[in-house]
Amino acid sequence: MRTRLTRTAALILSAVLALSLAACGKEGTTETLPNNTPTVTTPTPEPTPTPDPYEAVRTYWSEDQLTQAWGPDQVVEHLFFHPVIAYPEYTFSSAISQTRQEGLDDWMVTADEFKKILQSVYDRGYILVNMGDVWSEVTDENGVTRMQRNTLMLPEGKKPLIISFDDVNYYEYMLAEGFTSKLVLGEDGQIWAETKDPFTGEVSLTQDLDATPILDQFVLQHPDFSLNGAKAIFSLTGYEGILGYRTQNDIDIAADDPARPAFDAKRQAEIEAVKPVIQRLKETGWTFGSHTWGHIRLDSKPLESIQRDTVRWAEEVGSLVGPTNILFYPHGGRPDGDDWHTTGPVFQYLQSQGFRIFASVGINSFSYIKKDISAVICDRLHPDGTTLRNGKALEWYKQFYDAREIIDLDVRPNLGTTW
Ligand SMILES: [Zn+2]
Repeated sequence: MRTRLTRTAALILSAVLALSLAACGKEGTTETLPNNTPTVTTPTPEPTPTPDPYEAVRTYWSEDQLTQAWGPDQVVEHLFFHPVIAYPEYTFSSAISQTRQEGLDDWMVTADEFKKILQSVYDRGYILVNMGDVWSEVTDENGVTRMQRNTLMLPEGKKPLIISFDDVNYYEYMLAEGFTSKLVLGEDGQIWAETKDPFTGEVSLTQDLDATPILDQFVLQHPDFSLNGAKAIFSLTGYEGILGYRTQNDIDIAADDPARPAFDAKRQAEIEAVKPVIQRLKETGWTFGSHTWGHIRLDSKPLESIQRDTVRWAEEVGSLVGPTNILFYPHGGRPDGDDWHTTGPVFQYLQSQGFRIFASVGINSFSYIKKDISAVICDRLHPDGTTLRNGKALEWYKQFYDAREIIDLDVRPNLGTTW
C-alpha cells in the first residue's frame, strides 16, 4: 500500500515537473500549473552565469570511465615539494650567502623545474588522487579499529599519484630569498600568489612562480590529470601563520599586557583575510594536513613539548583549515625514533589526538599498515637538488622523470652531479 502511494505521488510529481519544464521552455508566456496555483508569468531567463572552470575538472571523469581497480597491494606513489624557488637568478646570486644557497639548492626545485616535473608525470600516465581517499579506518566485529588500504577506481591506463606541499607558510626568512609571499584569492575566483620581485621591488600577483597556482593552472589545462578534482595536500606548520598570513598567537604577550589588544586586532584581521583563501582552496580540490605547529622533531623532543605543540596546532591551524588525520613528520623524524617496528608513547599520543596517516620521507613510496594500533605510516619521495643531482636517485625517480631533463644547471650553483 505504502509503495503504491509513493509510486503514485512520484508519478504526479514527475507530471508536474514535466509541465513546469515545458512552461520554462517558452519565453514570456503564461501557463497554468496543474496544481491549482495561480497563473504565473515565466520571466525572461537571466543570462547563464559563467560556470566555475573547476567544475569541468571535478566532473571530467564520469563514474563509468573509472573501470580500473587499483588494489591494496599496488603502490600509490607520493611526491612532495617544498615551496618552489620563484626567482632562482636571485636565490643563486651573491645576494644570498653561500651556505643558504646550498641549503636551498638541496631542498627545493625552481618554478620551471616544477612545471617540467608536472608535465613529465602527466605524460607518464599519473593521475592526482586525494590522499584522504587512499586509506580508511574500519572497525572489526570486536570493535577494534584498524586502517586499511582502499581499492581506488581509476581510468584505464592511469596510475595514482599523491602530491604534498610542505611548509606552505611563507616563512619570513624565505621572503628575502627569492620566493613568493602569500596566496590570495583573485577577483576571478582563482588562487594567485602575491610576489615581490627582488630585483625591482615591484609587488604583483602571479600564477607562474608559485607551486599552488602552477598546479591549479596545469590541472585546468589537463583535467584528465585529476581524479574528482584532486590537487595536492598542504602540510602546514603554525609558528609563522599559514599561507602567508600571520595568524599565529604570541603567548609571550600576556592577557593584561597593553600590547595585547593591538596584537589581537592585527591577528584577527589576518585570520579574516585567510578564510576565503582556505575556502576556495578546499572548493578546488586542495586538502590540509599537519606538519606540527613548531616544525619540531618528533624523533627526539620530549613528550610534553610534543603535547603542547599538538594542542597549539589544533588551536591555531586546525581551527582555520579544519581537522585532519594526516601528519607529516618535520625533517622526516619518526616518533620515538622508529614508528615502524615500535609504537612508543609519542606515536600513541599522536594517534590518540586523531592522527591515522603518518608520512615521512624515503627512497620509495613505501607504506605500512600498523598491526597493533589504527595507523598507517608511509614515505614520500622528494624531488629537489639532492635527488636531481644524484646518480642513484636517477634510477629511483625514472618512473616520474629523467632528472637530467629537469635540473636547471644553468641557474643552480655549480655543485656537480653524480650521474
Ligand atoms: Zn618541513
